[in-house]
Amino acid sequence: MTPNADFNLTEHDAVLGLGSNVGSEQEKLSALRMACDHLAAHPAIRIVARSSVYRTPPWGETAQPEFLNAAVRICTRLQTTELLGVVKSIERLVGRVPTYRWGPRVIDIDILLYDRFSYDTPDLTVPHRHLLERPFACLPALEVAPDVRLPSGLLLREAASELMQTARLDRVANL
Ligand code: ADP
Ligand code: MG
Repeated sequence: MTPNADFNLTEHDAVLGLGSNVGSEQEKLSALRMACDHLAAHPAIRIVARSSVYRTPPWGETAQPEFLNAAVRICTRLQTTELLGVVKSIERLVGRVPTYRWGPRVIDIDILLYDRFSYDTPDLTVPHRHLLERPFACLPALEVAPDVRLPSGLLLREAASELMQTARLDRVANL
């Protein structure tokens, strides 16, 4: 077996953040669950934990409906850029259409963490660029991966502790 083939068999531990803010609360919940179903159906992805679903105020562009947010922890054989391609195609399958930056979306799937890997290109930054600024990303991520560490070695819960002290998110459902 070549080293490359071996590498492709390696399973990676990743945390994905999910968000939806189009339609009724039931429609947002359905969009999150549909995204999970597509992820679970992918042959190179295994969902190992699902967070609760939280109702959260919009971030960045605040004049838009509130979001439902959640996170899933996955094991995957996909490399980071392959995983980004898969989540983007699942966003399209669930019905996302392009709007403006941080605008309303039927579904948003972000790669929050991927092993303790740090990667920065125009198309992909891992850990997610805004992870430590967004309680709606940190809280569900901590629920599925309470022990997770950032590439720096710091525990996510330590890095996010100040942010989480002021965060107010309503838990509304199971994913
Ligand atoms: P956001 O998630 O920041 O609200 P979008 O979902 O519209 O915005 O993503 C815009 C672009 O961000 C994507 O097309 C993707 O190339 C890029 N991107 C960079 N890093 C990541 C990441 N960690 N996860 C998902 N997308 C990312
Ligand atoms: Mg996104």
